[in-house]
Amino acid sequence: MLELKYCEIKDNKYFSSIPYFEIWGTLDGPSIFISAGVHGDEINGVYLIKKFIDWAKESKLEGRLKGRLFVLPILNLSGFRSRKRYVLEDKKDLNRQFGKTDSKTISALIASNLVDEIFSKCDMGVDIHDAGFGAVLLPHARIHISDRDNCISCSRTLAQIFGTEFILERKGVPSMMAVYMNNIMNKPVITVEIGGAGHLNEQLVSIGLRGLKNVLFANHMLDGEIDLPQLQYILHSRKTMRVNYTAVIKFNRKLGDWVEEGQQIGTLYCPETTKEEPLLAHKSGILFSIWPDNQICKGRQICSIVNTKSKNMTSEGLQKMENYQKNM
Ligand SMILES: [Zn+2]
Repeated sequence: MLELKYCEIKDNKYFSSIPYFEIWGTLDGPSIFISAGVHGDEINGVYLIKKFIDWAKESKLEGRLKGRLFVLPILNLSGFRSRKRYVLEDKKDLNRQFGKTDSKTISALIASNLVDEIFSKCDMGVDIHDAGFGAVLLPHARIHISDRDNCISCSRTLAQIFGTEFILERKGVPSMMAVYMNNIMNKPVITVEIGGAGHLNEQLVSIGLRGLKNVLFANHMLDGEIDLPQLQYILHSRKTMRVNYTAVIKFNRKLGDWVEEGQQIGTLYCPETTKEEPLLAHKSGILFSIWPDNQICKGRQICSIVNTKSKNMTSEGLQKMENYQKNM
């Protein structure tokens, strides 16, 4: 029986607790945390945790697990209740509060309590996000460049075994959970992005569930076959297309489709001029992110495209990786 426990947030008058499951295995093994909802409007991560808990119950994970799992269904409770990215009480981004031990804001207290009570007891972690209301993203793991090469390499390995086709490696902010855990606690934590726009995408969530199982299999916490894509790519940057006037937008291609440079991928209609123009792909590649709604404001990102067939991938900010299984 999985029982919901609560991490008490001390010294504040707003929060009493953050819910979590602690699943003890019958044999020794690593300790891992899986969390979602650090941003309150990112529901695909929250839903992925629900799917994971359903699977854990159905498959009687407790009796088969080696090691210990902490599963946190929602970190930013007030943000979720109010459908906001930030923590409602202090309007702060919870994922920019890690390591801010001098701060007495509620967000900083939540972050430090989570680290003390749960994250510090773990060897590694997976923190699940989506794009909020600004985009819909193809599932990918994110890792951060830091001065500690040993920890980059282990978070990269964790990202590889999670098994998304793309891994985005970029400079993070020191107060992000993953950066803090990697740099200060020396424990690999990856950030996983899946979908967005306040809509559940069950197909993308199932890729996330596969990833969580992969992490358990690869760390020998559970017997099973790791399921990885044929090829994986590290992405160092991505060029986005932006709109220079507010318009009604309609896509005729969808997230994950391959598009050719110059190909029409949608239309933009401006009611001020009554002109409609085709929306043309700025390069060949896979649609990695798209604007989720049918109205888009001047300056916003329409989409981003990633080219996996480019002859010189490095200049594209892309690097092909050896399949992890080949190195095992
Ligand atoms: Zn997020």
